[in-house]
Amino acid sequence: MSVAKNGMWSKRDEIDYSLDRRNTLQALFRGSASAMDACDADPYLKRAAKHHGDATTRPCPICRRGEIRELRYVFGDQLGQYSGRIKSVKELTEMQSEYGEFRVYTVEVCLDCDWNHLIYSYLLGDGRTRKPPRKAHTLEDDDFKPDRKVKSWHVHEQVLREQGRSR
Ligand SMILES: [Zn+2]
Repeated sequence: MSVAKNGMWSKRDEIDYSLDRRNTLQALFRGSASAMDACDADPYLKRAAKHHGDATTRPCPICRRGEIRELRYVFGDQLGQYSGRIKSVKELTEMQSEYGEFRVYTVEVCLDCDWNHLIYSYLLGDGRTRKPPRKAHTLEDDDFKPDRKVKSWHVHEQVLREQGRSR
């Protein structure tokens, strides 16, 4: 596995969640109570989107006026303590040759209302298995609030897949 010569990422196993997104939106517009779970961006998620999210030109599908930002979360055994963190595009480019495999989850968040949803996910990494880094204290740890429950998008994805099977 190598990074393509043109510098593009070697994205693998990309999953598109647009069907789930559409189903969630339809359920929301029908007023389904269970769908309200989808619209539950907590203050931490919104703050993260405001400060670390990438701007898009898409309007919010719910409130229509809100600004949609995209956040990228990384998950993977080889990431150790860094699994579940938000990463910038620049950081992902660096991580691509530092780790064998990790999954990136792109999430859209509305800065106005509480809409948030998975957009797509894909695997990155150079394919060489590595041991997770040793636990080290970082400045990010001070910033990272373990008591504030950050959405675990890999768990969320499992729920989506189960819902897909039962439909
Ligand atoms: Zn909105």
